[in-house]
Amino acid sequence: MSAHIIVGAEVASEIRAALKEEVGQLKEQGIHPGLAVILIGDDPASHSYVKGKEKACHEIGIYSEVIRRDASITQEELLGMIEEYNQNPNIHGILVQLPLPKHISEKAVIDAISPEKDVDGFTPVNVGNMLIGNDCYLPCTPHGIIELIKRSGQPIEGKHAVVIGRSNIVGKPVAMLLLQENATVTVAHSRTKDLASITRQADILVVAVGRAEMIGAEHVKVGAVVIDVGVNRNEAGKLVGDVHFDSVKEVASYLTPVPRGVGPMTITMLMKNTVDAAKKAARVAQEK
Ligand code: NDP
Repeated sequence: MSAHIIVGAEVASEIRAALKEEVGQLKEQGIHPGLAVILIGDDPASHSYVKGKEKACHEIGIYSEVIRRDASITQEELLGMIEEYNQNPNIHGILVQLPLPKHISEKAVIDAISPEKDVDGFTPVNVGNMLIGNDCYLPCTPHGIIELIKRSGQPIEGKHAVVIGRSNIVGKPVAMLLLQENATVTVAHSRTKDLASITRQADILVVAVGRAEMIGAEHVKVGAVVIDVGVNRNEAGKLVGDVHFDSVKEVASYLTPVPRGVGPMTITMLMKNTVDAAKKAARVAQEK
C-alpha cells in the first residue's frame, strides 16, 4: 500500500484562485481587503513566514502593510501600533507574527487586537466563539487541516481522530474543530503514556509536536489519514515533518507531505479570514 499524498500546495492554490476572483469583485464594489502584519526581531523562520504572507496578499490582490521592527521595541510601542491598526479603516486584519521577544507579553499583545480584526483567530473572544460553534475567525492552521481532510474526500464524522499536541495554536483548536465535525477525539501530549497504543487507534491522526520524524509506521493504523503539521530541520538540515514520510506512506491511506502540505493552507486560510473581515466591515458600515 502506498498512501495517496494530499498536496496542500495544490489545494491552497485552488482556494487562492477563488479568493482572487472574489477580491476582484469586492474591489468593483469599493471594498479593498487589507492586512497588517507586524514582525518583531530577526527570527529567520518568522521572516520567511511573513514573506510568504506578503506574497500571498500580492497574488490575491489584498492590500498589505508589513511592519518590521527591531527586537528592542517596547511593549507599549507595540500595543500603540496595534491600537492604530484597530482604528485604521483600510486594514481589516491584524497579525502579529509569533514568537515575540521575551520582554513582551504575548497575552497582552493578543488581547490588544480587536476581535473584529483578529484574522489569526487567537483572541479569547474568537477562541470562545469557536468553542461554542459561533460564527468567528477560525485559527488558520487548524482550519487548513480540516479543509485538507474534507477536500481529500475522507469522512470525519464518526471517525476516531487522535491529535498529538495540545498547543493553543494547533493541537487544542484542531481537536475542537474535529469534534465539531463529529469525530471522536483523543488528544495526546508529552505526558501521554504509551503513545503508539493510542495513535494506532486513529482513523485520522494529526501530528503537531515539533520533533523531526518522531512518528513512524509503528504508530499508524493501516489505512489511516495522517496529517503532518510539524516543520523541522533534520540533522542533515533538510526540512522535514513530525512524521517519517517514507515509512508512514506505506501504511496510511492519505498523508500530507512537508513541505507543500499543511503550511500553504495556513497562509491561505489567513487570506480567507482577511477577505471575510473586509466583507463583515463593509456590512457593518452599511448598517450604520
Ligand atoms: P508547541 O511546542 O507549542 O506544542 C507541541 C506539543 O507537542 C505540546 O502540546 C507538547 O506536549 C507535545 N509534545 C512534545 N513532545 C511530545 C512527545 N514526545 N510526545 C507527545 N507529545 C509531545 O508546538 P506548536 O503546536 O506550535 O507546533 C507544532 C509543530 O507544528 C511545530 O513543528 C511547528 O513548527 C509546526 N507548525 C506548523 C504550522 C504550519 O503552518 N505548517 C503552523 C504552526 C505550527 P506538552 O503540552 O505536554 O508540552
